[in-house]
Amino acid sequence: VEEKSEESSENLQPRPPVVVVMGHVDHGKTTLLDTIRKTNVAAREKGGITQHIGASMVELPDGRKITFLDTPGHEAFTSLRARGAQVTDIAVLVVAADDGVMPQTIEAINHARAFNLPIIVAVNKIDKPDADPQKVRRELSELGLIPEEWGGDTIFVDISAKTGKNVDTLLEYILLLAELLELKADPTKKAKGVIIEAKLDKQRGPVATVLVQEGTLRVGDVFVAGVTYGRVRAMIDDKGRNIKEAGPSTPVEVLGFEDLPIPGDTLKVVDDEKTARELAEENRTKLQQQEKAPKAL
Ligand code: GDP
Repeated sequence: VEEKSEESSENLQPRPPVVVVMGHVDHGKTTLLDTIRKTNVAAREKGGITQHIGASMVELPDGRKITFLDTPGHEAFTSLRARGAQVTDIAVLVVAADDGVMPQTIEAINHARAFNLPIIVAVNKIDKPDADPQKVRRELSELGLIPEEWGGDTIFVDISAKTGKNVDTLLEYILLLAELLELKADPTKKAKGVIIEAKLDKQRGPVATVLVQEGTLRVGDVFVAGVTYGRVRAMIDDKGRNIKEAGPSTPVEVLGFEDLPIPGDTLKVVDDEKTARELAEENRTKLQQQEKAPKAL
């Protein structure tokens, strides 16, 4: 039963964009994410020790933030996709300028289109002598991604993930696009988010990375997450810091699950443990019914 006050969103505020970096293997996705994290002021101030939690938030010198999900292709993202979870706002398509469009480039485009994600193209490895960024533009134009400079509506940025050249420009374009998308969330609501990753930690028990999508998640909050539930015992951000609260678009590692949640599941803060248990039970029943029902197609 939803409370009335939760239905209206009078407190909408701009939130950071959630970005996924996609592209063919070896085209430079990991290098790009590493470069972005290294130049990230927040990480640098704390000594640059980043935690692997499946997502990270970078902060520009002026305070603007961007959340990056780790590159998909792994199980978690497939599960997110299968559940139709809308997690990301923008896709950055990395294409190596010395290689051009490859099978996984096309896969990535299809993936982004299936989710209605606007695409920004990062033409990478322009430091290489055999780089041909114009060829990448031609090949992608044939696939319907026409550069703005050719009269289309796709932003292309020539970068070198390795040297860092133009990576700041790429971030600017991401934020520009985010502004056009008018991404907003209400930080005053009870938190709602999506499970990005989950693992069983020998010492800490079930641990999951949650991307907060609405509201603010706090230590002590009681939640339901798919067929499981729990109470937030501790939260750790992508820089390894213990935090007490996490607002919209923040990825955070959460401790306090009864059982391992499933990536793609929604986490929702509720009033008390009884409600959490009941909702988890309801979800379990629903899931069992779905499993029994004959599959469409
Ligand atoms: P991923 O598979 O897409 O994550 O690709 P990686 O980031 O692992 O990069 C694959 C290889 O390309 C590595 O050896 C990187 O050092 C190299 N690489 C990535 N970006 C650049 C770049 O901008 N310039 C050059 N010269 N090499 C790059």
